[in-house]
Amino acid sequence: MAETVEKHEKAIRRFGVRYGRTVKRKLGKIEAQQKKKHVCPYCRYTSVKRLAAGIWSCGKCGASFTSKAYTVSKPAGVKAEQTMEV
Ligand SMILES: [Zn+2]
Repeated sequence: MAETVEKHEKAIRRFGVRYGRTVKRKLGKIEAQQKKKHVCPYCRYTSVKRLAAGIWSCGKCGASFTSKAYTVSKPAGVKAEQTMEV
């Protein structure tokens, strides 16, 4: 876990001392999600990349589909919370 935090910190260094620590940290987390490769819902291969906001494309099977703006699916924590409510 410590390694991923460091990665976020590195990515937000480009802003220097501007914009505030909390906002920059939030952005770093979202940006890491947006830039990493995701699991394809069609072929289950970790090869899905983001083309634009909400548009994703799989490099393995070539499928293009819409999903969330920054992730292919909701984070695991959110799903667990929703199922508990129901
Ligand atoms: Zn695929």
